[in-house]
Amino acid sequence: MNFCTTLHQMSAPIICSALAAATLWGGTASSADEVNLYSGRQPFLMNPLLETFTADTGIKVNMVYMKKGMFERLKSEGVNSPADLVLTTDIGNLNKLLEGNVLQRVYSSTLNSNIPAQYRHSKGFWYALTTRARIIYAHKTRVKPGEIKNYEDLAAPHMKGRVCTRSGKHSYNVALLASIISAKSDFQAETWAKGVKANLARKPQGNDRAQVKAVYEGECDVAVGNTYYMGKMQTNEKNLEQKKWAAAVNIIFPNQSNRGAHVNISGGAVTASAKNKDNAIKLLEFLSGDKAQTIYAEGNFEYPVKVGVQIPELVASWGTFKADTVSMDRIAERRTQATKIMDRVRFDN
Ligand code: FE
Repeated sequence: MNFCTTLHQMSAPIICSALAAATLWGGTASSADEVNLYSGRQPFLMNPLLETFTADTGIKVNMVYMKKGMFERLKSEGVNSPADLVLTTDIGNLNKLLEGNVLQRVYSSTLNSNIPAQYRHSKGFWYALTTRARIIYAHKTRVKPGEIKNYEDLAAPHMKGRVCTRSGKHSYNVALLASIISAKSDFQAETWAKGVKANLARKPQGNDRAQVKAVYEGECDVAVGNTYYMGKMQTNEKNLEQKKWAAAVNIIFPNQSNRGAHVNISGGAVTASAKNKDNAIKLLEFLSGDKAQTIYAEGNFEYPVKVGVQIPELVASWGTFKADTVSMDRIAERRTQATKIMDRVRFDN
């Protein structure tokens, strides 16, 4: 059996099993018209993007999909890693790769002009490719208009026993708390985390969609979650129940009259061991360009990172919002502190 599967046509990206990739690319990791990608983003999303890239440039992409373990894999492969480029979600994952010294700096005027400064590493170690807001899902009738406008309201007395969220230690919530540390102070962030914990309807559990389900079922009135899950629920033809969960809630973009809603990213970075660095940069540039940004946004209901790219109709139907302008670098710097606070307030217990 072939280690890699070529999809659809000649120009299609090649998807390899994680185990086979190193073997396959061993000794031939450098090639004028190839680039090797470790992707934490799923094939359904990446395939249309990579097919378009190959058709436009003639550069073949060998992609290994890695749901987890990317850092450990890169670390153990060291300088012999076949990977040229990595794609992942969440500032926490990008920061882990950076601190683990498996990335290299890249300078590209295209990347710098496509990606706003707050969404790329200040020294060029990683670049965001999409954004997603962390929002409040509020029950349509049990939550009155104006009852919850800010993240701060999640900790207010009138929300007692009405809040659901996944683990406070999940990277999405760690980044949210890091944004509150950044906007306010350690002390105020800790007070907030304590307040939210005191308002929880149940112990943190499940993923973001499970919180919206709990709102639908009446276990809580508001939930914290990422925007793209709304799209995934609204369009879910396999699990029609999820359409009901989505229909039970309104989306509230928090902090619109002050700092703006907290935004997290998915992004890409060139590996320290890249043998095809130029092609890796070309792929990153392509992914930040208009054509790819549209495909990304439509594929996963995320927001384009590039200013001026059209937002898909369904995503646009949720309304426009003001995003927190804090840089992702600043969020990354405050993640450790945020995790400590979640531990101190025993958020998950
Ligand atoms: Fe997610």
